[in-house]
Amino acid sequence: PFTTTTQHIGLAEQHSAHNYAPLPVVIAEGDGAWVTDVEGRRYLDCLAGYSAMNFGHRNPDLLAAAHHQLDRVTLTSRAFYNDQFAPFVSALAELVGKDQVLPMNTGAEAVETGIKLARKWGYEVKGIPRDEATIVVAGGNFHGRTTTVISFSEDPEAYGGFGPYTPGFRIVPYADADAVAAAIDATTAAVLVEPVQGEAGVIVPPPDYLPRLREICDRERVLLIADEVQSGLGRTGTVRACEHTGVVPDVYLFGKALGGGILPVSAVVADADVLGVIRPGQHGSTFGGNPLACAMGRTVVRMLREGPYLEQARRLGTLLSARLATLVGDGVVATRSIGLWAGIDVDESLASGRELCERLAARGVLVKETRRSTIRLSPPLVIGEDDLEWALDQIAAVLADLRA
Ligand code: PMP
Repeated sequence: PFTTTTQHIGLAEQHSAHNYAPLPVVIAEGDGAWVTDVEGRRYLDCLAGYSAMNFGHRNPDLLAAAHHQLDRVTLTSRAFYNDQFAPFVSALAELVGKDQVLPMNTGAEAVETGIKLARKWGYEVKGIPRDEATIVVAGGNFHGRTTTVISFSEDPEAYGGFGPYTPGFRIVPYADADAVAAAIDATTAAVLVEPVQGEAGVIVPPPDYLPRLREICDRERVLLIADEVQSGLGRTGTVRACEHTGVVPDVYLFGKALGGGILPVSAVVADADVLGVIRPGQHGSTFGGNPLACAMGRTVVRMLREGPYLEQARRLGTLLSARLATLVGDGVVATRSIGLWAGIDVDESLASGRELCERLAARGVLVKETRRSTIRLSPPLVIGEDDLEWALDQIAAVLADLRA
């Protein structure tokens, strides 16, 4: 019975919650940057699971590590140590130059953990009155879908109707360091920011933004928390998007690609004087730090260190930004990119983001719109140069069709 796209979608719509409106493509297999649907059609995956599939589908190194671990032990809980845990946390801490790692599962959990960490640090270390710490965040942010995280979203779809919300957040415009400085007071424990805003449409802030936030946070004794869930682990051609400006935040949040696209793995990474405020019994997760997750995480760290991924993202990123520049004008209002990650703002009178994605899917390219008429490109870092060129050709062709 499950052989056609129509059958799958019919049953899915009947029996799953409608919290997504997926494109009508039922994926059955993946290989590198390509996926195949249930009817045998091939598509170039230019979304890569919102950057969770940075290393490509069925990456041989990740599969080998997963198979190896599957045959040994997969779950212990944190009631015990497991033999993948120390290799993972030590490798990740070393990779980003911090002392300690707190492993969780999803990106939103890492953000929640970062918020709890900052509040407790504010109380115990900075001396902010108990339970009164505030956190400054950026407008247009996307940090996840939990109740606390949507409390400081500006996207009405994300927060609308889900209140009451968690207090203690101050939203200031993204890329505006003066506004951050003005929002900080004696209750402020942290500034939480995406080094590049992903869901907002791949917004790359001016180069002095993060350095200025670093200065302000140092001066005010406030933690700088970088949400690198989408921007980190190769997407921009570096392990951390923060590296582009030389800024070292106090706390990193990683997720998505940390699990190698095999299972959810996230982490909060900071020095011991910060993470040390969380003691036994105060935070955790049954699955965080499990053997399979750690086996994936340590493999991802090794791949970033030894593999061609960062270099590939930088090389293809140069090609991508050059091609994007040629699109502007022909139905494209603006483009932005950093590494192998781009936002393309299409003239809203031409088509909605959704329609663009449908037309691209029909041509064999999978992308997802972000807000309004922006399409985001975040293909696996293993995508071939010709394939990337081809994807951009398809975008140009769709725009030409729309203008015809
Ligand atoms: N932070 C950022 C910057 C993200 O882009 C996302 C996901 N798009 C998240 C957090 C949430 O991650 P998850 O979906 O794994 O909860």
